[in-house]
Amino acid sequence: MLKTIGRAVLKVLRSARVFERVANSSWRRNRLLILCYHGVARGDEHLWRPHLYMHPSLFRQRLELLKRGNYNVLPLATALARLRQQDLPERSVAITFDDGAFDFYDQAYPLVKSYGFPVTVYQTTYYSEYSKPVFNLICSYMLWKRRGSVLPDGKPIGLPGSLDLKTEARRIEIVRSLLRTSEADGMTGAQRNDLAARLAELLHLDYDQILANRTLQLMNRDEIALLAAEGVDFQLHTHRHSTPIDEKLFRKEIQDNRRYLPQSGRNAVHFCYPSGVYRDDFLPWLQAEGVISATTCNPGLASGDADPFLLPRLVDTSEISAVEFESWLTGIRPLLRSPKPAPRIVPIAAGRSSQVMID
Ligand SMILES: [Zn+2]
Repeated sequence: MLKTIGRAVLKVLRSARVFERVANSSWRRNRLLILCYHGVARGDEHLWRPHLYMHPSLFRQRLELLKRGNYNVLPLATALARLRQQDLPERSVAITFDDGAFDFYDQAYPLVKSYGFPVTVYQTTYYSEYSKPVFNLICSYMLWKRRGSVLPDGKPIGLPGSLDLKTEARRIEIVRSLLRTSEADGMTGAQRNDLAARLAELLHLDYDQILANRTLQLMNRDEIALLAAEGVDFQLHTHRHSTPIDEKLFRKEIQDNRRYLPQSGRNAVHFCYPSGVYRDDFLPWLQAEGVISATTCNPGLASGDADPFLLPRLVDTSEISAVEFESWLTGIRPLLRSPKPAPRIVPIAAGRSSQVMID
C-alpha cells in the first residue's frame, strides 16, 4: 500500500513538472547517478530472481528513458574525474554491471551498444576462468525450476530424507546445506560442479544442456577480450567474489582479479564491493593496491564531496517501476526520503575466502 501511494505521489510530481525542475537544477548537475545492474535474462531468470535479473524488454525501456530524458551517460572514469572537479554535464549517469555474466555478452551489451552508451563491468574472475555455472546460483535456479515438487530421497546429493521444494525458504535451506557440505568437504570447483550435476539428475534436468547453454556462467577470457576491444570498461570485483578480512588475502583477491583482466588489469583501478559488503578496514587496503574508487550498493547520487571509496549506486531491478526509476534519474527520489545506508560493519562470515558465492 505504501509503495502504491509512493508511486502515485511520484506520478503527481512528474505531471506537475517537478521531475523536470529537479533534473535541471544545479543540485542535480553537481551529482552523478551510478546505475548498477546484474543480469539481463536469457530465459526465465527474471522470474526466478527479479532483484538480480531483468527482462530484456525492461532493460531496453530503461535505456530508452535515459535517451529520451537527454541524460549524459558518461564512462565511469570520466564521470568520477569530472565529479571531483565539479565539472559534470547536466543529468550525469554512469552504467555499471556487476559480476560479468555471460548474459551481459549475450543480452545486455548488444542493447547498450545499440544506444551508444559507455558501460563498465565489474568482473569477478574465478568462474570466468573456470567456465562452469556459479554453484550456488545454478543449484538455486534448478531447485526453482522444480518448485512445487517434493523429492522422496536427497541421498544422491548427500542430504538425508525427502526434499520439499514447495517454498522459497525450503529451497534456500537446501542450497545452504549443499554449500555447507561443499565447504566442509573442501570440494574443488570440479567436485562442486559434479554435485550440481547430481542435483540436476535428481531433478530430471538436462545438465549437459544447461552447460551448453551457458546458463548462469560468467564471460570467459575470450569474450571479455572481445568486448574490451569494443570499448567495454572492465574493472575490479575480486577474483573469488570475496572480501576476506585478512589484509594479505584481501589484497590477493585484487591482484588475482587484476591479473586475469584484459591487459593484466593495467587500467583496472575502480572497484565494486562484492554483495555490497564493506568495512572501514578495506579502504586503506584498496588504496595500497592502487585502487582509486569503490562503489557500494547504498542507494543515492554521488556528490563531489562523497568518499571515493564509498560511492553510492542505484541497484536497478525488475521491482522498480518506470516512474521510480525516473525519480532516481531526475534526482527527486533521494530528496523525498533519505534511504537508509547499509551497515558498515558486517559479520565475519561475509569474508569467506574459500567459497565463491555470487548473489
Ligand atoms: Zn557481485
